[in-house]
Amino acid sequence: MTIAIVGAGMGGLALARVLHVNGIESVVYERDAARDARRQGGMLDIHSGQRALREAGLLEKFLTIARGEGQDMRLLEPDGTLLLREDTPDDAPLLRPEIDRTDLRALFLDALPAETVRWGHAFDHAEDGVVHFAGGGSARYDLLVGADGANSRVRGLLTDARPAHLGQNAVELAISDIDARYPDLAAMVGRGNYWVFGEGKSLSAQRNGDGCVRIGISFYNTGEEWFETTGIPFDNPPAARARLMELLTGWDPEITRLIEVSDDTVVPRTLAALPVGLRWPSNPKATLVGDAAHLMPPVGEGANMAMLDGAVLGAALAAHPDDFGTAVAEYEKEMFERTEAAARMSADMQQLLMSPDASRRLLEFFQPR
Ligand SMILES: Cc1cc2nc3c(=O)[nH]c(=O)nc-3n(C[C@H](O)[C@H](O)[C@H](O)COP(=O)(O)OP(=O)(O)OC[C@H]3O[C@@H](n4cnc5c(N)ncnc54)[C@H](O)[C@@H]3O)c2cc1C
Repeated sequence: MTIAIVGAGMGGLALARVLHVNGIESVVYERDAARDARRQGGMLDIHSGQRALREAGLLEKFLTIARGEGQDMRLLEPDGTLLLREDTPDDAPLLRPEIDRTDLRALFLDALPAETVRWGHAFDHAEDGVVHFAGGGSARYDLLVGADGANSRVRGLLTDARPAHLGQNAVELAISDIDARYPDLAAMVGRGNYWVFGEGKSLSAQRNGDGCVRIGISFYNTGEEWFETTGIPFDNPPAARARLMELLTGWDPEITRLIEVSDDTVVPRTLAALPVGLRWPSNPKATLVGDAAHLMPPVGEGANMAMLDGAVLGAALAAHPDDFGTAVAEYEKEMFERTEAAARMSADMQQLLMSPDASRRLLEFFQPR
């Protein structure tokens, strides 16, 4: 019985690892040409997902590489007023540590047999128990698991649902080697998260484990076509930075200096989500994990849910190795309920972030902690 997983992200790798721990080998087909073909992006805040890491036998190792100090938080208003500062004591429990995506992915990859992940295999379509790859090639399967992220192609086998734009567009920047080049800005951002919320706009800066600070500038209540009309020249980084600073006119120059000195990689990102509570009729030959199943606003749940999906599905398949239909139905029952609650909570948080008084409401949200 062949289990084919499409996508070597957190969901797909957690599933492959939990199956492996239970003596079941699977095949992961990944579009990227190689393990280091693409930068994996910034940090992940891992909380409930620690349960999946325990199931995968990787929790101890995770805790040695996770950044506890990444839990630090600073919340400001655009004029530089500091609303909240939380510094994590050295002996604080690692309830929500941050980890570089590359490190988390490596943790899983290093714990799988080398032949599990087949790099350079982009899923194109599947029919009659055979998966076909873009550019040629095919492979047989008994169960196909779509772990292929937000823009999943596997999803179409189970549902017509598509992600809808969230009314938020973001621009990602980074300042590499910040300690040596801009020690004053490194100190300003601190060891964890630095958030500034203005009306309809926000800037977040986050310390990464590789010595860089990643910056996200979000524009709320903006439509899908916003990048086409707003005049940010992404092919000309100095001009793009200048335009972004113009869009934050009136903000404290110390804050916008984070934009001024950033590297020449200026990346647009439109944000979308699947409907909250999405479900589909169970199919013994195919299912979905992670963003493919329940893409939600990026407020710190997605990777946790993806890993939990992988762990729960892996355990169900180990419990019913000869009956994939029962395993898939059991997994989906748990997954639909758990992720609906997380998606609802994420949608509420998204509403809060999009509100005109987001900084004050966030302060109220965090202060009881
Ligand atoms: C800015 C930002 C910050 C975030 N921060 C957090 C956080 O702090 N905590 C948290 O829990 N979540 C966070 N998230 C959400 C999190 O990144 C995702 O929910 C998580 O990565 C989903 O994992 P996944 O395995 O489902 O998909 P992905 O990680 O997207 O992996 C999908 C994989 O499938 C591959 N693939 C895609 N198409 C194909 C194909 N056709 N064939 C083969 N392979 C394919 C891709 O190359 C990729 O490797 C954040 C998201 C964003 C945008």
